[in-house]
Amino acid sequence: MAAATQDAVLGGAVDLARSAALEIAEHPADVGEHLGYTVDADRLVSHRFACTAKGYRGWVWTVTLSRVPRARKATVCEAVLLPGDDAVLAPAWVPWDERLRPGDIGPGDVLPFRADDPRLEPGFTPTGDPEVDEVAIGELALARARVLSPVGLAEAAERWYRGRQGPASAGAVASAGDCQTCGFLIPLQGSLGTVFGVCANAWSPDDGKVVALEHGCGAHSETDVEPRPSEWPEVPVASELVVEPTAAVVGGGEVAGREAAGGEAGGEVAGREAAGDVVGDVPAEDEGPAEQPEP
Ligand code: SF4
Repeated sequence: MAAATQDAVLGGAVDLARSAALEIAEHPADVGEHLGYTVDADRLVSHRFACTAKGYRGWVWTVTLSRVPRARKATVCEAVLLPGDDAVLAPAWVPWDERLRPGDIGPGDVLPFRADDPRLEPGFTPTGDPEVDEVAIGELALARARVLSPVGLAEAAERWYRGRQGPASAGAVASAGDCQTCGFLIPLQGSLGTVFGVCANAWSPDDGKVVALEHGCGAHSETDVEPRPSEWPEVPVASELVVEPTAAVVGGGEVAGREAAGGEAGGEVAGREAAGDVVGDVPAEDEGPAEQPEP
């Protein structure tokens, strides 16, 4: 294909190209300096102007001009805003099923089926041999369309071991005992059981989660709280609960002793009451209504 020839008419029609760019710009100030033009084909030239609009660094107003053969009048074919070499662009679009990350799935969401998921491999097809089927189906539960592949197992083990239920988490490092010695650990079957179990302790932050055998927490079944020194002073504690009051401590002791010795004090009080004296602090009106003599 022969190279397009320079076109003086179209190359010189800068003002026509600028007016076309101004028509599509939001503000006249958004059309900057003329950056030159390229010859796209015979009688077909594209003029470029810098875009000075905010957020469009590196973008270029591009106006394509043309003319009919032997005519000296340029006409506008199109005017567009195109990104230049150093233009700021949005990231390439990625389909939603490729954008999803673990943890993005919510209730009601459904992931697209992946027939070639490397984490899965075909499950077990019953052979008719009771011995073989019993092991594969009864013990290993492989009678599913697909089961975990070695890749899937390895990825899960790596993820769990390095996660919050692994041996390096803050709680595990601070714990006094590890899960493999804890009574609340449910062992797992298969190869994963050599490294992991399931925690079944409601008091543990890991209850119901897969935990590494080297993990641990403060709710371990066999550990205890370390006794701490008290800031309170030591107080002598009575060794027995039998209290023996003395007359010097209890004021009524003397009276009681005298009553037991002959009733002298009690007799004196009774005599004063019979004579109408007020005994103690009880006011007269509190003694109840006086008895009326019978007619
Ligand atoms: S209670 Fe703690 S130590 Fe015991 S299995 Fe659960 S996480 Fe491990």
